[in-house]
Amino acid sequence: MTSSSVSPSHIAAVSSSLEANKSDLNNVSQAIWNKPETMFNEVFAHQLLTEFLEKQGFTVAKRYGVDPTAFRAEFQSANYQKGVHPTVGVMCEYDALPEIGHACGHNLIATSAIATGLAVRDILRNLNLQNDAERVDGRLSLLQVVVLGTPAEEGGGGKVNLINHGAFQDIDFAMMVHPFANNDLEPVILGIERVAVEFQGKAAHASCGPWEGVNALDAAVALYHNVSLFRQQMQPNWRIHGIIMEGGTKPNIIPDHTKSNYYLRTITSTDMAYLKERFLAMVNAAASATGCTVNVMWEPNPYTGMLHNSAMSQVYKSFSEADGVIFPLHVPGFNGSTDMGNVSLTVPSIHPGYALGRHSMIHTRDFEALAGTPEGLHFTLLAAKSMALTCTELFLNKNMQEQCKREFAERIKGFTTN
Ligand SMILES: [Zn+2]
Ligand SMILES: [Zn+2]
Repeated sequence: MTSSSVSPSHIAAVSSSLEANKSDLNNVSQAIWNKPETMFNEVFAHQLLTEFLEKQGFTVAKRYGVDPTAFRAEFQSANYQKGVHPTVGVMCEYDALPEIGHACGHNLIATSAIATGLAVRDILRNLNLQNDAERVDGRLSLLQVVVLGTPAEEGGGGKVNLINHGAFQDIDFAMMVHPFANNDLEPVILGIERVAVEFQGKAAHASCGPWEGVNALDAAVALYHNVSLFRQQMQPNWRIHGIIMEGGTKPNIIPDHTKSNYYLRTITSTDMAYLKERFLAMVNAAASATGCTVNVMWEPNPYTGMLHNSAMSQVYKSFSEADGVIFPLHVPGFNGSTDMGNVSLTVPSIHPGYALGRHSMIHTRDFEALAGTPEGLHFTLLAAKSMALTCTELFLNKNMQEQCKREFAERIKGFTTN
């Protein structure tokens, strides 16, 4: 990292902002945690967060883009001009899981985003940024922070819809943090394609005249085997996993219709294109071997892998380490998927994971409980502090901006076929 432009007074300003707003931030976190809403139904959280940010002086667009539970909240320094001066987008997730509520801790992600927004607002309001920015590039400080409300991370792809809506056209850098089992600066995040495969055969009596049937369950099982056989040839970070959703109705009827669901995961889009091609060959082989016809339906809004911007994540890391956070060199890989991957191929982005004081795996009832505790809030505000200071660094340090953009331009070439 080049020498930091963040001064002790900036750090003190962020700390006192977080301290002053702690009780309000806790209330927001608790309210969302107590009322879990699944993807695209985050009506309560949308209302709560937009009203909160409006009261705090942000310019808020509710129901932003195509999803009624998305929003955009902006705060600018005076004389800011859109498209001319730097903007940092902080991603705000708030959807929950069916049955196990906020077991992914998105109430804490929402809290981290608004805490960061408030701290940056206070920096922009209270400090003599004009002198800081003049020192850097000879101009007055003209900056913007956007808290972007991104619904439906758990499957619907709210961020993909926002990208398609043009929400990132004036955002130069994007960031978010996610509570995890471990502190993980650049967790492995795989792209994901979800697909349903329906085989169509012909029903027949399984004992009186099975030769008159065409067995759609055999096709589904053949596909499952083909995938299992191929797994040995997959790269360590690729995944294919599937289940048979519909496998027939009665043992004495040759099944004429089956449905299987599969998820395919790779880091790069280039690998994903190859894996999809192989998967389709396995599907067609299963159909051909059994004489079935097949219908393959890919879900919309696939998630891409995450291209971590190391120049940005190193800045985040240095601020976190100054607060005593330790990032172990070797942690079990995350290997999940998120629509933040798509954002990371749009603008330079980071997505560090942070632990909540003890080991607990996301998507468990234990993690759901942890996401509602004072410890959960404590470590979330610590992560928000590092995000707010990373924003400040980006705003003040023109070299850093250029370094992040240069890295993005160089590394994206190997990441995607586009
Ligand atoms: Zn999750
Ligand atoms: Zn999550």
